[in-house]
Amino acid sequence: MSAKAQVAVIGGGFVGHCCAWLLQRQGHQVQLIAPPTPPQGSAAALGVLMAEVYQRRSGRGWRLRRRSMELLEQWQQHLALPVHRGLLLLASDPQEWERQQRLVQQSQYLELLSSAALKAKVSQGVLPKLPEEALGGVWSSRDGQLDPFQWIQRLQVAGAEQGLEQVEANVTGIDGDGSRPWKLTLDNGSELSCDWLVLAAGLGSSQLLEIVGLSLPMEPVLGQALELQLGSDQTTWNGCLIWKGINLVPRPNGRLWLGATVEPGTKASALELADLQSLQGTAPAWLQQAQVLRQWQGLRARPSGQPAPVLEQPQPRLLVVSGHYRNGILLGPAGADWAAEQIAEG
Ligand SMILES: Cc1cc2nc3c(=O)[nH]c(=O)nc-3n(C[C@H](O)[C@H](O)[C@H](O)COP(=O)(O)OP(=O)(O)OC[C@H]3O[C@@H](n4cnc5c(N)ncnc54)[C@H](O)[C@@H]3O)c2cc1C
Repeated sequence: MSAKAQVAVIGGGFVGHCCAWLLQRQGHQVQLIAPPTPPQGSAAALGVLMAEVYQRRSGRGWRLRRRSMELLEQWQQHLALPVHRGLLLLASDPQEWERQQRLVQQSQYLELLSSAALKAKVSQGVLPKLPEEALGGVWSSRDGQLDPFQWIQRLQVAGAEQGLEQVEANVTGIDGDGSRPWKLTLDNGSELSCDWLVLAAGLGSSQLLEIVGLSLPMEPVLGQALELQLGSDQTTWNGCLIWKGINLVPRPNGRLWLGATVEPGTKASALELADLQSLQGTAPAWLQQAQVLRQWQGLRARPSGQPAPVLEQPQPRLLVVSGHYRNGILLGPAGADWAAEQIAEG
């Protein structure tokens, strides 16, 4: 590993926290810079982790997903935090059902459930009543969900215990080209310098790169989600359910997170939200009757013209760990691991 470096991580979402915690843990002196406002993406995330059910079994996307799941297994022990394992991906059309039948042959963690098997689980009370249209599904014992807020808080505390410094500010200026220490200007008037600069600022990374004359076009994609209170007689179950791209995440005390819409731009649509709650017109009665406790929205950063996420070193000692689009919680650890590797290689 390279000598202990001074590292500044810009961004206080899940990705920035993963980077800062890991680098501090590896012996670097890290400053995490972010304003005290909730992070646009991570504060809205449901924390669903879909790796094993990913349709491809090769390529960068698959490698990052697999790496993140390995890391999460280790990190949950270091951090004493849960990852709730178990995820049921339901098939809503014959093509998806066929794809699932092929998918299960490639993984020991996946189990195919026919429509009859699903119905049996519903009558045993293991699953809630499912949309009539479900043709079957695949159960993954390896995928699942984590609570992003709980994890960010724990990464913060664990990082601070190891000497990670939190700086509550926006970065407004960056000076450098990698040949000498980077100099950052903050909106509180102070300045700081570092050997390595990690941009994990979500949508904000584009603007930060512009300051040093680099371009990373990204577009915002809004997502809305709901927290529901289920009826007291409603079956509770283990594991996330995924139906037509909508996540149903069981929460303690008979609650459910439901999300998320995918709306290019920054404006929330009431129609999209209604569609979400009705599961595009397929919601069983227990879901239609659930009480809405909370509704929220967030912005995802989708890189334009290149796949998510963007893991790049466009200048020496400048690392971009951004543009995670719909999978920043799943891919946060793999991005942090990539950044740590770049710094170790020097
Ligand atoms: C409704 C919804 C549901 C989602 N569900 C899931 C899910 O189930 N699973 C999953 O994997 N992903 C999910 N996502 C996607 C996920 O939320 C994002 O991919 C992820 O949060 C991106 O994290 P991030 O840290 O890169 O960005 P963000 O969380 O947006 O954080 C960016 C940070 O950078 C800071 N920043 C920006 N500019 C500056 C600056 N100039 N100076 C200092 N700091 C700056 C911001 O203040 C913020 O702290 C969901 C997203 C939404 C909207």
